[in-house]
Amino acid sequence: MSDITTPSATRDTVILGSGCSGLTAAIYAARANLKPLVLEGHEPGGQLSITTLVENFPGWPEGIQGPQLIENMKAQATRFGAELKLAHLVSVDLSKHPYELNLGAGKEPIHTRTLIIASGASARWLNLPSEQALIGHGVSSCATCDGFFSSGKEIAVIGGGDSAMEEALFLTRFASKVTLINRTERFRASQIMLDRAMAHPNIQFLPSTVVDEVLGVEEKDVKGLKLRNLKTGEHSVLPVSFMFLGIGHIPNAKMFQGQLDLDPDGYILTHGNVFPTHNGAPIPGVFACGDIQDRRYRQAITAAGTGCMAALEVEKFLEEHGR
Ligand code: NAP
Repeated sequence: MSDITTPSATRDTVILGSGCSGLTAAIYAARANLKPLVLEGHEPGGQLSITTLVENFPGWPEGIQGPQLIENMKAQATRFGAELKLAHLVSVDLSKHPYELNLGAGKEPIHTRTLIIASGASARWLNLPSEQALIGHGVSSCATCDGFFSSGKEIAVIGGGDSAMEEALFLTRFASKVTLINRTERFRASQIMLDRAMAHPNIQFLPSTVVDEVLGVEEKDVKGLKLRNLKTGEHSVLPVSFMFLGIGHIPNAKMFQGQLDLDPDGYILTHGNVFPTHNGAPIPGVFACGDIQDRRYRQAITAAGTGCMAALEVEKFLEEHGR
């Protein structure tokens, strides 16, 4: 690792991402007087900002709206001196410390001694205009967050992988009927998950079927799905009150390709929860937290937990290596 001359305005820490993990890191780093800069990223507030009521975040017995929870975290972080900036990282060279963050043409680069990567994973959507219009109004990518609201209703889950099976099985606790819609005949899920879902009396399978439109945009409430069978070309309407997407997530780690070890799907591999590596070797002062390194739990509270860990590691790093 080669050293570059430390510019005078070098920051102690910069946090990439303003979801639950990044903002928790910001609260801890700010309270340690590190004056963190949070680059809010492409989806400010992360996945919580596109959910409705969050009922499983400890401390909110009546639940709290996802966007409100994010606003509260922002207020808490800025109260202690965190700075939030609407910007995203275009590139960084992790072989040169302190790190120079390139924010795009015409923008001043930022120099920092430590970097917390909390850029998250974005839910994959079908990208239908009607689907996008109804996110938070019956369209959801998080069964754990929104499943409760489907109590007693007929719903649809899109996807044929393990996530879709897991969501469908989970949602049978609430919904009266779950229709699993997969675009191909072949389900990608592991056999055990597929068998479980197929054995469930309240789960109906619709293979080789795609959603052409989500109905209910005018009413701001999902009323049904316009479907097309890819084998027969037949059109139909499925009357459901909810559509849950289980078609995977896309980790926001592209800019670290070749600089950090990623798993085959592009998630950052970490050891000790928050330490990324490159060819197995640690990267001084770089930490990763939240959904960018967690494809297993993906909960607001676990993202917050690793955000806290990352900030504590930043403190430790700066104590050991100087500010
Ligand atoms: P995945 O395995 O990549 O499956 C994604 C599913 O969504 C596939 O059925 C895919 O269809 C479908 N899909 C993708 N884009 C689509 C689109 N635009 N329109 C319609 N359908 C679309 O993703 P995942 O289920 O999230 O799983 C990711 C990884 O996590 C896997 O390794 C999985 O085993 C693991 N996981 C494990 C568990 C568990 O063990 N409990 C739970 C969740 C996830 P095609 O097959 O046609 O591409």
